[in-house]
Amino acid sequence: MKNIIQINIFILLLFFIWGCSTTTEQTAKENTPEIMEAKEVRDQHTYAKPQEAVVKHLNWEARVDFERQQIEAVARLDIEVADKAEELYLDTKGLIIDKVTLGEEEVMAVYEMGDYNAVTGTPLIIKITPKTRRVNVYYTTAKDAEALQWLNPEQTAGKNEPFLFTQSQAILARSWIPVQDSPGIRFTYSATVQVPSRLMALMSAENPMKKHESGIYKFEMKQPIPAYLMALAVGNLVFEPLGTRTGVYAEPAQIEKAAYEFAELDEMLEAAEKLYGPYRWERYDLIVLPPSFPFGGMENPRLTFATPTILAGDRSLTSLVAHELAHSWSGNLVTNATWDDFWLNEGFTVYFERRIMEAMYGRPYAEMLAELGYQDLKQTVEELMGEGKEEDTRLKLDLTGRNPDEGVTDVAYEKGYFFLRHLEGLVGREKFDEFLKEYFEKNAFQVMTTERFIKYLEENLLKPNNIEIAGTTYSDWIYGEGLPENMPEVDAELFNAVDRQLQAWKEGTPAASLQTDEWSSHEWLHFIRNLPDDLSADRLRELDQAFGFTQSGNSEVLAAWFMHAIAREYEPAYPALREFLNSVGRRKFLMPLYKKLTETEAGGILARDIYKTARPNYHFVSVNSLDALLKYREETKK
Ligand SMILES: [Zn+2]
Repeated sequence: MKNIIQINIFILLLFFIWGCSTTTEQTAKENTPEIMEAKEVRDQHTYAKPQEAVVKHLNWEARVDFERQQIEAVARLDIEVADKAEELYLDTKGLIIDKVTLGEEEVMAVYEMGDYNAVTGTPLIIKITPKTRRVNVYYTTAKDAEALQWLNPEQTAGKNEPFLFTQSQAILARSWIPVQDSPGIRFTYSATVQVPSRLMALMSAENPMKKHESGIYKFEMKQPIPAYLMALAVGNLVFEPLGTRTGVYAEPAQIEKAAYEFAELDEMLEAAEKLYGPYRWERYDLIVLPPSFPFGGMENPRLTFATPTILAGDRSLTSLVAHELAHSWSGNLVTNATWDDFWLNEGFTVYFERRIMEAMYGRPYAEMLAELGYQDLKQTVEELMGEGKEEDTRLKLDLTGRNPDEGVTDVAYEKGYFFLRHLEGLVGREKFDEFLKEYFEKNAFQVMTTERFIKYLEENLLKPNNIEIAGTTYSDWIYGEGLPENMPEVDAELFNAVDRQLQAWKEGTPAASLQTDEWSSHEWLHFIRNLPDDLSADRLRELDQAFGFTQSGNSEVLAAWFMHAIAREYEPAYPALREFLNSVGRRKFLMPLYKKLTETEAGGILARDIYKTARPNYHFVSVNSLDALLKYREETKK
């Protein structure tokens, strides 16, 4: 394995040297950073050919039709073209193209749709000339557009109005806008969106803060972003300011709870800036979405999309907000060039997130988060190894021919985090912080490949500090499988007390007599996760009666508890489990719970029964994984 890896690095180096030597012969025009990047980086998940024609600005005019569950729109794309350009390649998936015109005078264009691919969709190929500066695409979205989730009123918190939200990452932006859907291609955008007048529209842009009687909303995003950060939410929403630069949007039924939960947002933003430099996106607001949102959060610039499952009532799950905020630097400013480099987005973000948490709540608190992260990582790596997916335990992935969503595992997040922590250990915190701060500044609004990062690391951190790292460092951490031997140690001292109580319970102390008064949800999570696997239902009942796990309002605690309940067929928890799976669409919870259920025959039957009613509440990215797990087919719907 290691040999193969070294050869790979060698080839990459060759590429780099070859890239440098040929550029000197090229015209100055072809040496713009965008074109250089495009040459170095090959994103397998886009049809775009940015060397020929690249989108620089999108002007989007759209009407959101809840009755038909579709968006009718025109995407006006300002492009930059090469000298001999003949075609503009855009990514689409399921879009119904009405017509395409060129320029402000809207001359009818010749275009064709290429071959459909189940992962990447269909290229829209438009004939252009080297003089073309604008292309206008008139289209509607498909009924089952993968990025869009249309909710009927019953699926919202308020139950009165419908709701629409998008989830574009990784490559779903193309299912609602014809764009060059690659993390390596950035553009600015403006938009005019018409929605029913009772509803408010929000985007990953400058936002309205109040409802407009006309139902027409205008948006401006002045900083260039990749397509996966395009976002839209429409619903009965209200705004509550939290600080001078921060605020929260939610349905009226949830706004008060949300404002309480995120009260420290301004402080968090300041802590982040103090660590790694100025926040570059002006405002930072949150929107709390209905429960079917498939992720914990999505770092849409200026407006993080968040799951209501973090409204724990005690501010205990706000590390998720620190995570999304940290993406304003890692990911949104310095962006993974392809989905194979996803760890550059997520590993850096987890590191940054834990540093924010440390700054706000102290090191013992942040170390609990790191330890829980380590437990997640260990389990994920074991599972992937057991399933014959060893390759997915590498930081640098090869997602050729696969859906990039398959690269979203704890490996990118936590192995990435521990690699950065390892680097911090090599040079000490002060130097590492300086390095990271400069990294974000120097590479702002650019893309990063794993190989460019390694080079940057060598030149800006290791060499200046005379650090010689072991020859196997990159193969162990980045290109190799499993976990390296030199994993940094976590010192979660607060968990020691939890371990002592757990031990006492195992040795006969009644659950009701354990000392758990000061515990946060992290301590509870550690306690539940480390319960023995072979508990009887009676022992589970004892815990449940003492601590009320089945009734917990904390989604993390609940999900961890249900894992034991399922394993030991502890039926008193089943009604709550059914309710949880029917209302929560967060994939992080859904996958392990359904998987656990399918481990027994009875559980499998229950899982399929729940899934039948719950499936319409889930977003495509959850459904996509769950259909495969539960062998769900459309004809079984009835
Ligand atoms: Zn993230």
